[in-house]
Amino acid sequence: MIKPLDADKEIARLGQLIDQSENIVVVTHMSPDGDAIGSSTAFRGVMETLGKDVRIVIPDMMLESLRKVPGSKEVIDAKRYPDFARKLIADADLIVCLDFNTPERVAQLGKHILEAQAPKVLIDHHLHPADFAEVTISRPEMSSTCYLLFKVLCALGLFPNLDRDTATDILTGMMTDTGNFSYNASDPEIYVVVSELMKLGADKEGIYRHQFNTDSLDAIRLNSFALLERMKVWPEYGAALIRLTREELNRFHYTKGDTEGLVNRPLAIPGIVYSMFMREEDDYVKVSMRSLGEVPVNRMCADHFGGGGHLNAAGGEYRGTLDSAVELFKSLLKPNLKKYSKEIHDAKKL
Ligand code: 5GP
Ligand code: MN
Repeated sequence: MIKPLDADKEIARLGQLIDQSENIVVVTHMSPDGDAIGSSTAFRGVMETLGKDVRIVIPDMMLESLRKVPGSKEVIDAKRYPDFARKLIADADLIVCLDFNTPERVAQLGKHILEAQAPKVLIDHHLHPADFAEVTISRPEMSSTCYLLFKVLCALGLFPNLDRDTATDILTGMMTDTGNFSYNASDPEIYVVVSELMKLGADKEGIYRHQFNTDSLDAIRLNSFALLERMKVWPEYGAALIRLTREELNRFHYTKGDTEGLVNRPLAIPGIVYSMFMREEDDYVKVSMRSLGEVPVNRMCADHFGGGGHLNAAGGEYRGTLDSAVELFKSLLKPNLKKYSKEIHDAKKL
């Protein structure tokens, strides 16, 4: 059985807002992922069965692989079409914000959303939602916005309006935000929802193939090079670092998404409990961290690398050269071990 959402007031108001709207704009976060695109396209698909006109606006380009998500071809990239995106938001009857918690996560669109006359709805699973929407349905304990959206649609009485494509959209986010059900995936209810989506014909194999198991030859070579030549591990500190210069990235014709998941690889080594990947950009270094157990990479990123994120997955932008970022990481190994000795010790036993 699927537990009720326990948001009667919010659902009632959301139902009214949908009834009153003709033009709905859906907005999702920067560098949209499978959950962002899947929840947006599923929401649009269901709204279209009610005769609504729905546009999806994204702050910047999405990964090529996400073009395989049903309905994702018709999204508007606000970086390419800023005036059009601004006008759509300004003219909307209803603005639905999916898979992000604060206006900062949608870059320049945040300002337009806050200025728009239309009522706003936020449906999301990140911690600390900002208070800007008339209806906020925030469930940080849920593994994906798609999973939450499924329950919202059920609560609205719209389960019968789902079809094969919208079921595939929802399953996409549920799979991508849990690494294909390998983390944040212990809630038994997830599998009840998956079962319902499969009954609707969701294309699970297609999602796996396109979102998890498709790489260009260049990407395979770049990742292999990075692991062979540019990964350093410090077993005594439980740490690993992978670094790639711009020149190296260019050599393998790097495009966005090519190194997705690379930062996780060192965590497969027994005893390695946190890992950083550094990618040299033109005027900064993009860092990405992952960890096991209670090792708080969000704090490491926030304290030293201009970023933040979740306990086990975080990132940031370091202002300086790649070499100085590497030196900083190395200089933190000992202090980290001291500061997080219990967390590192416990994680090593996982
Ligand atoms: P990724 O390593 O996949 O780029 O990011 C993992 C998580 O780290 C994201 O979901 C986000 O919460 C956080 N994150 C990544 N980059 C940044 C950043 O530059 N600033 C902050 N505050 N968080 C980030
Ligand atoms: Mn998400």
